[in-house]
Order: sequence, then structure tokens, then C-alpha cells
Amino acid sequence: LLPLGAVGALLAVAGGIWLSRRRLSLRSELATAVRRREFRMHYQPIIELDTGICVGAEALVRWTRADGTQVRPDLFIPVAEETGLIEPLTDHVMDLVLGDMRELLIHDRSAHIAINLSAGDVSSGRALKVLTGKLIGTGIHPQQIWLEATERGILDIQAARTSLAAARRAGHCVAIDDFGVGYSSLQYLQQLPLDALKIDKSFIDSIGTHSATSPVTSHIIDMARTLGLFTVAEGIETSAQLAYLQSRQVEFGQGWLFSRPLPAAEFIAYHEHRRSQ
Ligand code: C2E
Ligand code: CA
Ligand code: CA
Ligand code: CA
Repeated sequence: LLPLGAVGALLAVAGGIWLSRRRLSLRSELATAVRRREFRMHYQPIIELDTGICVGAEALVRWTRADGTQVRPDLFIPVAEETGLIEPLTDHVMDLVLGDMRELLIHDRSAHIAINLSAGDVSSGRALKVLTGKLIGTGIHPQQIWLEATERGILDIQAARTSLAAARRAGHCVAIDDFGVGYSSLQYLQQLPLDALKIDKSFIDSIGTHSATSPVTSHIIDMARTLGLFTVAEGIETSAQLAYLQSRQVEFGQGWLFSRPLPAAEFIAYHEHRRSQ
């Protein structure tokens, strides 16, 4: 009989192999999916909190496998980032967004759609050049495409700064995503040329049910204001959270309280209905 410690070690090794094989198969499956363009976008309405008007949406990628099962983006986006598949995937996302939303954006010049960029997209500056090219001839104004850049994985801050500055010169509005989740946040915030700060859902979750508020969330809102950034709160699920954010004059928000991410046609109907009230 093996001693217990050895059994544990064997199990750990077997588990590790199982995990890395699973990851390997996800990798190759993802490569095929990117080649075959097996993705669609969902659009989560973004609401102006003091009026309730829908001002646009965040585009969120969806992958449905051939067998009909869905893979969550927080599972496959990191794999795409590690394997260089993020470049073609981001290009595909841009094509889908411009295709789905062209009519709406031409029809309503005040509407915008936010596209998520990975750190690699930001640092290389390539995604922005690709986007500028794709926008030509569509009739969509660059002002109508917002960019959400995560701080996760940004290694070369100088490169990120150059590329985000170019994005703003081109007319895009640039938001820092998942702010506060990473670790050298404040330093990034001060160095990056930004328009907006997205407050991560984890901070919204910490807003209490009564008037009890999260000091960290409050601090993030203050910080954004000091830096002249407007704020977008994500993951609003309760009216207590909404009331608090309104009382702190947070400009925009999204979350299940308003709507889940929707397929393009459903979002267009939602937007039409809540464009003005
Ligand atoms: P994120 O950018 O922080 O996006 C917000 C996530 O919160 C989305 O998850 C959205 O569906 C979810 N969410 C919004 N409101 C609520 C709410 O009230 N309650 C709850 N429980 N969840 C809410 P999703 O769509 O699964 O995306 C996960 C992450 O994957 C995104 O986080 C983003 O980092 C990444 N991602 C999604 N689409 C893209 C894309 O096209 N490109 C890139 N590079 N990353 C993407
Ligand atoms: Ca985002
Ligand atoms: Ca976010
Ligand atoms: Ca988030």
C-alpha cells in the first residue's frame, strides 16, 4: 500500500495532467472556432442612471460549440490571450459589432457600442488600426464606438499609453475596465489617457441593502471624479444599488436590474423603446 502522502501526490499529478489536457483541447477547439467564426455577440444595455435612458450597449462575445453547448468568455478569452488567437477573435468581434449595429448607430447618432479589448490588443495598437480601417465607409462615427481596456495583463504601460492616446485622437471614448480588480491599479489610472472608469461588479455587489455602502466603492467614485473621468457601474442587480449609485451621481450603469445581455435584434428593440422617455 502507498502512504497517504504519495496517494495525494499522485492524485495531484493526475489532476494536473487532466487539467492541462482539458486546456489543450480547449485551445485546439478554440483555434478551429476562430477559423470557422463560430461566435456571435450579445449586447447589454447601458443606461443613463438619472434619466433611465438607454444610451448604448456593451458588446459581449458568445461562443456556441457545434454540439450546442456554450463556453463562457471568462473561460476562453484568457486562452485566446495566451495563444495569440485574441487578434483574429477581436477582428471578428469588430466585424460582428459593426454588422449588427450599423443601422442603429446611423439612425441614432447619440448611441454608442462599447467593445472589449484585451491587453494584447491595447499594447500592440494593431486592433485600433484595424478598427479605423473597418469603420471607413460604414457611416458610423468613431465617437460611437467606445473601447473598454482591461488593466489585466498590461505589461508595457508606455505602449498602452501610446495606443490609447491614438484611440482618443481618432475620436473613441476609452474606459478602463475591471478597475480595482488588478493590483497596480492606481498607478495605471494616473498614467493612462482615459475618459471613463468602469466600476467592477464585485464593488457593486458590496453595496449594502440599506443605506450601508461600501467604502471602497465610494472611494473609487471619488477617485474617478478627481481624475475627471466619468463612471459606468457594472452588474447592478438591485434597486438599492441603483439608488446608491444615483445618490453618488454615477453617470451610467448596466446590470440585470435593467437587462441581461441580449441578442442583436432584441437589443435594438429594447433601445428603440428606451431611447427617450
Ligand atoms: P466584463 O467586461 O467585466 O463584462 C461584464 C460581465 O458581467 C459580462 O459577463 C456580463 O454578462 C456580466 N454581467 C453584467 N451585468 C450583470 C449582472 O447584473 N449580474 C451578473 N451576475 N453578471 C452581470 P460575460 O459576458 O460572461 O463576459 C465575461 C468577461 O469576458 C467580460 O467581463 C470580458 O472581460 C470578457 N469578454 C466578453 N466579451 C469579450 C470580447 O468581445 N472581447 C474581449 N477581449 N473580452 C470579452
Ligand atoms: Ca467590459
Ligand atoms: Ca467590466
Ligand atoms: Ca467585470
